[in-house]
Amino acid sequence: MERKYNFNPGPGVLPLPALERAAQALIDFEGTGLGILETSHRSKEFTVVIDAATERLRRLLGIPDDYDIGYFQGGANLQFSMLAMNFLPSDGAADYVDTGTWSSRAIQAAGYVGKANVVASTKEEKYQRVPRWDEVTWNETAAYAHITSNNTIYGTQFQSFPDTGKVPLICDMSSDFLSRRIDVSRFAMIYAGAQKNVGPAGVTLVIMRKDMLDRCPDTLPPMLNYSKFLAKKSTYNTPPVFSIFMVGEVLRWVEENGGLDTVEKNNDKKAGLLYGLMDEDPDFFRGTAKADSRSKMNVTMRLPSEDLEKAFLAEAAEKGFVGLKGHRSVGGIRVSIYNAMSVEGVEKLVAFMKSFRKSH
Ligand code: PMP
Repeated sequence: MERKYNFNPGPGVLPLPALERAAQALIDFEGTGLGILETSHRSKEFTVVIDAATERLRRLLGIPDDYDIGYFQGGANLQFSMLAMNFLPSDGAADYVDTGTWSSRAIQAAGYVGKANVVASTKEEKYQRVPRWDEVTWNETAAYAHITSNNTIYGTQFQSFPDTGKVPLICDMSSDFLSRRIDVSRFAMIYAGAQKNVGPAGVTLVIMRKDMLDRCPDTLPPMLNYSKFLAKKSTYNTPPVFSIFMVGEVLRWVEENGGLDTVEKNNDKKAGLLYGLMDEDPDFFRGTAKADSRSKMNVTMRLPSEDLEKAFLAEAAEKGFVGLKGHRSVGGIRVSIYNAMSVEGVEKLVAFMKSFRKSH
């Protein structure tokens, strides 16, 4: 079977070695004679899986000891609500930076719980850039400050993180988690749906500074209470066993292939290839993100006409390049180049884009 070049925004491409190990584990997990889908989440074999994944993540990202790592269901969308339920008092307010659809969702979810103050928004500019930190004034009394590190739909990304002083910084890192080195100690909480860089849909990773857990209200039921859920090591109920197994395999692949330094170097290279091509002739592949806000994960562009975009998608698909259609809310073309997309895959796509430009 010929595998295609998968540029889908998520669920997206996964590393072949991780998929191959999963294929094997579906039938016989670690020689137990049971498949991973048939394995108890309380078994010693699965305990090894979840502990190993957690330890790998800790090593790869350099997560300090005063942070807990958890595996949640309900996607990043549940985190939008849950973080507000845990950290936003009903008579309090939290600061939010609005940089696109997913930040807006987070703001909307918080509004059900308390007050979400939008301290900066680039909505008026069609979200073509992220704000500079010197444009943002944080409230000293905010319960927390919330940002979205990478805007999957608009192809924008923060290249630095703000200093919010004593106000805990919470970040939705769904679409650039594990794509580059970050200083975890700058954040009170990081969360990310796994389905872009770290695994399949069905599990959301949460990295939580332990002092935040003192704030979780006792009135919340355990499934929605970070303190209680994390105290049970993500097994308060049946966790998504297979998704967590896959996360472990993807992390193994990252670690065995040079770790985050290699990941980051490759991601820089892939993004450089695409933006380099776009900059050669900005009237053909016209980037929609402002240069200083460009994402290294989702490269968004328009072609001179919608007909050309259609032709581009059709010809690309014929050549085996799939998942390139922009989000339905913005149209155009979006090239998602998550960790498991090889430099070679992007080189091939860029060669195709050049020939398409020439012939049209
Ligand atoms: N945040 C970001 C940055 C995303 O890209 C997405 C999904 N595309 C979400 C949140 C929503 O994630 P989920 O579907 O896991 O709820």
